[in-house]
Amino acid sequence: MAFRSWRRPSRRMVLTSVAAVAMTSVVGGVAYSAGAATQQPAIQTSTPHRADDVTNIDVLRQQLRNYYGDPLGTGNFAADSNYAKEAQKVAAAGTRWISVPHRTSKKKAILLDVDDTTLATWNYEIASNWAFNPTSNADFVLNQKFPAVPGMVDLVKTAARDGYAIFYLTGRGAAQEQATLGNLTSDGIGVDAGYPAPTTLTNGEDGLFTKPAVADYPDYLKQACADDKNGSCTTIHYKSATRAHIESLGYEIVANFGDQFSDLKGGFADRTFKLPNPNYYLP
Ligand SMILES: [Mg+2]
Repeated sequence: MAFRSWRRPSRRMVLTSVAAVAMTSVVGGVAYSAGAATQQPAIQTSTPHRADDVTNIDVLRQQLRNYYGDPLGTGNFAADSNYAKEAQKVAAAGTRWISVPHRTSKKKAILLDVDDTTLATWNYEIASNWAFNPTSNADFVLNQKFPAVPGMVDLVKTAARDGYAIFYLTGRGAAQEQATLGNLTSDGIGVDAGYPAPTTLTNGEDGLFTKPAVADYPDYLKQACADDKNGSCTTIHYKSATRAHIESLGYEIVANFGDQFSDLKGGFADRTFKLPNPNYYLP
């Protein structure tokens, strides 16, 4: 079942895009365009002039293993890795932000993405050799194999203790909602990351938002995504329209946490926080 294939449409472009982004400033960037009316790649980036303008993909994979403190590629990142330290820095900045007074008559909330924002998918990157596949990924999701992103559980616990509503917003499909909830919180299956449970909204909706099938879109997604291809929301439209929906119910999203820029674009949050993720790029 390809219920997540839409989520990562261009995962096979991942490593080349990482390398291309890294060298953009060096090369000065010729935009990739293969004929005006033809289909464009999902990731718009520059074209290297020479092979040496980009990092060799096998060398890049090793650099990523080193960054995660896992030079031999076991799938377990190290607690003292540069990845863990960078994630903890973002979590600390988020904690400082939510801890200062925010004057609002609305109910204060924080909102978090799931993959590589609250749950770290490093073990799946290693297992899949950075080649996303909905079937192999579903094994990790449904068996709840992902540990917490360093620093993030304490941040969310602090927010919950301070009276914030806690919302999770993920591109994972509705069929993966129960497993996602179990991995995030504590259901005794697989990894229990120990996050506070999502807050039930004032209208009774549960606060873990997974992406419905197009046929099941609520009105706010139908409207926001009417002009998207086949009426299927882009990530930015899906996520920003959902945040708008949440705020329309009387919440103020004080902080929005994501590892992809598409998690953070489109407004409806006072401030955004970007978690590190050099492994893939989701437009
Ligand atoms: Mg993510």
